[in-house]
Amino acid sequence: MIHIRNKEEIELIKNSALMVSATLTEVAKMLKPGITTLSIDKMADEFIRDNKGVPSFKGYHGFPFSLCISVNEVVVHGFPSNYLLKDGDIVSIDCGVYMNGFHGDSAYTFAIGNVYEETLKLMRVTKESLYLGIAQAKDNNRVGDISYAIEHYTNKINGYGVVRELVGHGVGRQLHEDPNIPNYGRRGDGKKLKEGMVIAIEPMINLGVKEVFTEQDGWTVKTEDLKPSAHFEHTTVIRKTGGVHLSNFANIELAEENNVELNHTYNLKIQSM
Ligand code: MG
Ligand code: MG
Repeated sequence: MIHIRNKEEIELIKNSALMVSATLTEVAKMLKPGITTLSIDKMADEFIRDNKGVPSFKGYHGFPFSLCISVNEVVVHGFPSNYLLKDGDIVSIDCGVYMNGFHGDSAYTFAIGNVYEETLKLMRVTKESLYLGIAQAKDNNRVGDISYAIEHYTNKINGYGVVRELVGHGVGRQLHEDPNIPNYGRRGDGKKLKEGMVIAIEPMINLGVKEVFTEQDGWTVKTEDLKPSAHFEHTTVIRKTGGVHLSNFANIELAEENNVELNHTYNLKIQSM
């Protein structure tokens, strides 16, 4: 069943989505080489609960953590661990928050220190494809219009692998609701979009092949060729002229820029000694 949300419900989903964005902003501030991904999960869990939210992912189908933290060739659903982030890594952080009866869901891929130019481009193109998808999330369009926009830009224009096994979804009282929002497809195909529907659009794009596999833990999804993968996600409401994202990257991007400056200053200091 696909839900059309009223104004009040959309406000509540927005509150949850913005709590996800605030959490990802706190994550952005702490990211640097030498910290464990488990310490990021711990901070996020505390931050969400301090703000009267509940981490949506913890216990979801048995998922044991508050964040999915996916490093380099891990596409999604990575477990936080004692792994120490290192210069040159990329890390995709997916977060969900449940508050006042509704979920918000958003993800962002961060660069740790100096990342290869081709990987930075993958991240940039994946983020851009999210906004191309959001632009198609308008009343009377179909799911396939979103899917096509993402696939066309990432695969046809940029040659990247588009993950087939994992897709976006409706989001609201449940973390995952109808309809599915694949990142590949044909224009005009699939369910019709109506104003007031709320969906999570989330391109998962691989530098190499589109094929993925799941690790023994039953969760961690990796690229078949072990090349890096990027993931950006916004909780989005369908509107007359195009989707409006309820989660927001603005503060994450600010924190990211400050971080780059801090790291740069730090590097200069090291060099001058
Ligand atoms: Mg998510
Ligand atoms: Mg999602």
